[in-house]
Amino acid sequence: MDDVAKHFGDFSAFFDQYERKIMKLRNLLEIVKIINSTLEEAKLVQTILYSCQGQFLIQNATIFVLEDADNFIFRDKLSIGLEKEYFGITISKNSYIFKIFNSDSNRLRAAVFFNSIKNSIEDPIELANIEQLNPEIISPLWGKNGLYGFLILGKKLDGEKFNNDEITYIYQFAELSAISIENAKLFEMAIMDRMTKLYNHQYFKNRLIEEIERCKRYNSKLSLMMFDIDHFKSFNDTYGHQQGDIVLKETAKIIKESVRGSDIPARYGGEEFGVILPETSIDDAFIVAEKIRKRIEKHPYPGQDKPLFVTISCGVAEFPKDKKDFTLTDFVEIADIALYYSKRSGRNRATLYSDDINKKLDKMREEKEEGH
Ligand code: GH3
Ligand code: MG
Ligand code: MG
Repeated sequence: MDDVAKHFGDFSAFFDQYERKIMKLRNLLEIVKIINSTLEEAKLVQTILYSCQGQFLIQNATIFVLEDADNFIFRDKLSIGLEKEYFGITISKNSYIFKIFNSDSNRLRAAVFFNSIKNSIEDPIELANIEQLNPEIISPLWGKNGLYGFLILGKKLDGEKFNNDEITYIYQFAELSAISIENAKLFEMAIMDRMTKLYNHQYFKNRLIEEIERCKRYNSKLSLMMFDIDHFKSFNDTYGHQQGDIVLKETAKIIKESVRGSDIPARYGGEEFGVILPETSIDDAFIVAEKIRKRIEKHPYPGQDKPLFVTISCGVAEFPKDKKDFTLTDFVEIADIALYYSKRSGRNRATLYSDDINKKLDKMREEKEEGH
């Protein structure tokens, strides 16, 4: 009899264990669905950390994400359960944490206890940096094409130690997260201009098509700004192309920082930038354009012994909802006309498109011809 009870007892423990495994897999599937549904990195890292906290019932967690693929630099993108959300810590290819998971001879595809590696971290700064994050477990984020980051988990809420099953499960979770991060990175590469980190021309056009549709459907306002750096050819001729590139990067940064998160700033061409402003009237767009123009005018660009200054011209237009069949090309064209007007009337200015502008431009052309 005892034997039978023991036998069924074993069975029930066996089933319990299976049930728990199935539950975990179900949870994991749910998490995969959620984290795979976002391609935006900021949202993604948040989802990963909160899912992780919910799954493993941990006090805190931090995620590092690959920031510079050429130099293997990872940065902490978000922490939860700690006194700060960002610590500004980097892990580079010289860091011990990087080397344990990715050395020339070995790729460690597993999560490890921080205590098991702690004494091997020789650099006191690296150790102090990581210790700020209350680390208990560190897992690499291995994607299909390489290492995309690290997940650092704190202690369990109930104070219990992690067991081996949990460590394996954490690594599985990390691997699924890494695939999502990789997808987000690939998407970003496809839509971003590499130099300026603004959206590229193709993405800009696609978004403009979408925004025009939205504007027509909901009768909302939609504005467009086009910028072009003044006399940039002679700037390049004087200071060199590399210095020109510094100006492009910094100008892009100023533009990005001056617009709202819902606006779409892009590198339209060489030294031309475009910004789509949904739900924005031409007058409000003009305020933004002027803010950007003035910031650029005052900005001391680095790269030489003395600071350098450049100016930018701008054209602003609002989508004319009353004009049927007005296309994306027409919209870009009227913003370009306003930009051209800024150039013709002395540069370093912003112009609002209006039918008047067209007439004035014609007049300018006539006057120029008469002057010849
Ligand atoms: P304007 O005030 O009329 O706009 O004069 P501009 O000299 O800026 O206009 P133009 O279109 O003649 O010259 C644009 C210059 O922008 C030419 C090119 O050397 C420079 N440029 C375009 N793309 C890049 C780039 O990626 N890097 C650098 N450094 N320069 C670029
Ligand atoms: Mg140009
Ligand atoms: Mg130019």
